[in-house]
Formats: sequence, C-alpha cells, structure tokens
Amino acid sequence: MIIAVVGTGYVGLVLGACLAENGNTVICVDKDQSKVDTLRAGGMPIYEPGLEELVRRNTHEERLTFSTDLAGSVRAASIVFIAVGTPQGEDGSADLQHVMAVARDVGRAMNKFTIVVDKSTVPVGTARKVRAVIAGETKQRFAVLSNPEFLKQGAAVEDSMKPDRVVIGVDKGDEAAGETMRELYAPFTRTGAPILMMDTTSAELCKYAANAILATRISFMNEIANVCELVDADVDHVRKAMGTDRRIGSSFLFPGVGYGGSCFPKDVKALLRSSQDRGYDFPILQAVEEVNQAQKERLVAKMEAHFGALKGRTIALWGLAFKPRTDDMREAPAIRIVERLLDRGAIVRAYDPAAIPVARRLFDNRITFCDRSYEALSGADALAIVTEWNEFREPDFDKMKSLLKSPVVFDGRNIYSPEHMRELGFTYFSIGR
Ligand code: NAD
Repeated sequence: MIIAVVGTGYVGLVLGACLAENGNTVICVDKDQSKVDTLRAGGMPIYEPGLEELVRRNTHEERLTFSTDLAGSVRAASIVFIAVGTPQGEDGSADLQHVMAVARDVGRAMNKFTIVVDKSTVPVGTARKVRAVIAGETKQRFAVLSNPEFLKQGAAVEDSMKPDRVVIGVDKGDEAAGETMRELYAPFTRTGAPILMMDTTSAELCKYAANAILATRISFMNEIANVCELVDADVDHVRKAMGTDRRIGSSFLFPGVGYGGSCFPKDVKALLRSSQDRGYDFPILQAVEEVNQAQKERLVAKMEAHFGALKGRTIALWGLAFKPRTDDMREAPAIRIVERLLDRGAIVRAYDPAAIPVARRLFDNRITFCDRSYEALSGADALAIVTEWNEFREPDFDKMKSLLKSPVVFDGRNIYSPEHMRELGFTYFSIGR
C-alpha cells in the first residue's frame, strides 16, 4: 500500500519506518523543512533505539521518503495517517489546531477515495470533527478512522513492531476501510496480539483511559512511598508484595520524582478537561495531577532538609530526559528540579547520555553540561539521580566518592540499595525507603 504519514515526530517517524519495513511505500510528511532535510541527508532528528537503522534500511530500499509536500503525498497515497502533535492548550484541553489544519489540507488535496486515520491522541469527538472539516473541502468519498498509538518512547520501534494490541475505531459506513486497516496491521500482530475494532469514540477514549490509569498508578505509588517515609517502611518491600498479586501486576509501581514526558501530563489534563466540560469532575484524576506536581518538589526538599540553604552548593545531576533511552525532555521532572535548584542559588552540573542537546536549548548556560557522568561529580556537594539510565546502575562507587566534595546521594529513582550505600560510606536518600 502507499501510505502518507503526516507529522514526522516520535510517533510518525516510527510508524512510517515500521510500515515501510513491512513492504509498504511510505511518505513521511512534515511542515518542518529542517526535519525533512535532516532525514533526507541521512540524519535523525530524534533519538530512539533501533530507529536510525530502520530508517536507513527503508530509505535505501526507497520504500521510505520524506517530504514537506502534503498535497502531493496525499494524492499519491490511499491511506493518510495524521500523527501531528496535540499539545496542551491553555485551559488544559488538547490543542487540535495541527490536527484540524492537516484535515483541511488533506481534504483540499484529495483526488480519490482516501482513508484518513487519526493517530494523534485526540479527545472524544475528534474523528467526527475531522470528518466535517474534510467534507467541507472535497466532494470525494473518504473514511475517517481512529487508531490511537500506545508506543513507549525509548522502546518505540519494538512496541510498534510487536504491539500488545491494535485499536481501530470505525464508525458505521466505514467498515471496508476498517478491514483495510486490519490488513495493514496483520504483519504486526502475527504473534496473536488482538486487533480491537470499536467505534471511534471508544477508540479515542481508550487511549486517554490507558494513560490516565498508568499515571494514577505512579501517583498512587508516590503517595505510598511518602507514607513509607513517615512510618519507616520500605517501599521496595511494599511494591514487590503488591506486584506479585496477579490482579495488580508489577509494572508501573515504581515511586520516583513524578511522571513527565509528552503524554501523561497532557493526556491526564485533557481527559480531566473534557470530562469537566461535560459536567463530570473526575476527582481521582485531579488528585493524580496534584500528587505529581508535589512529587516533583520532593528531591529538592530532601536536599534542603539535609543541607539547609542550598545557596552556593553544587549539585550534580545524573539524568535529564523524562525517562531513560530517550532525548525527550518535555515536562521532564528534571526541568522543575533544575529550576528549583537555580532559584535557591545552587550551581548545577548535569550529565545525560542523550538529552544534553535538548537541555542546552532549555537552560542555555545557566547550568554546566558535562560530557561524561563522572565529570559532573567533580567538586559537587551531592549527586542527584533524576533519570534511571542503565549506565548509572553499577557505577564505580569509589570513584564517585573521590570526586564528590561530600559523599551525599539523593536518588530520585531508587536505583541503589540503601544498605549498600551506607556500607560504602555514602549519606544516601531515596524515595520511600
Ligand atoms: P512530535 O511533536 O514529536 O511530532 C509532531 C510532528 O508534527 C512535528 O514534527 C511537527 O513539525 C509536525 N506537524 C505539526 N503540524 C503539521 C502540519 N500541519 N503538517 C505537517 N506536519 C506537522 O509529536 P509526537 O510525540 O510524535 O506525538 C504525536 C501525537 O501522538 C500526539 O498526539 C501524541 O500525544 C501522540 N502520542 C505520542 C506518543 C509519544 O510517546 N511521543 C505516544 C503515543 C501517542
């Protein structure tokens, strides 16, 4: 099949590359000329494990191309995915301006029956709005489907090639287009992952519901960790005991410095907003968001409790990205932590394996960026672990101690054993232990 994917970000580029890998001809479209130029020149605008090789192979085979020409790409394709950003609007709702702009341009360009697929995370009712916008621009027949994306940044290629499930929202009259999508996804679901067909409204809501419950688990565990600190319990014991209950399961039970990223914060707020717009307060979700905001403050609060004033103290940070294996810093807890430290007059020396170019754009020269993890420790009063990259898990503790001015570690991700750290002579603080 010939497919256009509009929006060549974390979702669109991965989707385009994975569809091309299965033999489809894919045009990845973006309005950002520099992004398209970078990709055409063989470069990568984002970091995602395994993606570069996949893009290179499929570009070389001429199954994957990049363009800023939306109209030409739509005319060449039989399926058009909309995978543009849906950032948080001022009132917390999802800002649909990019989705609607693409819908309008797709409608104007259409010269035959075309299947238009909402891949972006969009609130309930968006498929209907997209349908109305396209209908206002063309006399051609078309179908609008909803196909929310569940990939995780840091494992996006793997998740796309082997999804847990594929959700396809199809409204009455578009059943044949739904079957075409089933065919398109068949190679990804060979191992038996289900393709769940439903109406577009349910498909749109299930993406928000899935992200909201994951965010809820994180905030819930952060609250359990905070209680553990008050009663002298160890959240690791509590977490493991909870997780071995098959009704609960062990994933997303890790306390830390709060969730971030381009999805959980905005999707929680968008679900809250769209529920409240319909007169439903959704108190659990309000609390999830409040707890998350408070949790982002805890690491710096622990530093203040230990040191008193932070003015003039040097804090080394390991990790800036919102999670490991990505360079993405959107809504990363590191942003709040750095801003708080700078507000308090502290000096920050930071290292991250992938996110430093992004962080430089955020903080300019307000903090010192280090090329190597140990370099960040040099002369620092303490180390704060903010992102749990694997390379931080088994460091040379002696070297750490010799480089730090004082052997103090604030571990926002619980990656070390408190007993071991004490034996090694560190003053060690973590979350809920
Ligand atoms: P992104 O910001 O990385 O990429 C979006 C791209 O769309 C940008 O390159 C931008 O230039 C392009 N774009 C915007 N308007 C355009 C237009 N009119 N024409 C052509 N291109 C245009 O965003 P992302 O992280 O890939 O997310 C895309 C959508 O997928 C969002 O709705 C997001 O919520 C959802 N989603 C993201 C993830 C994730 O992990 N990042 C996971 C699941 C779902």
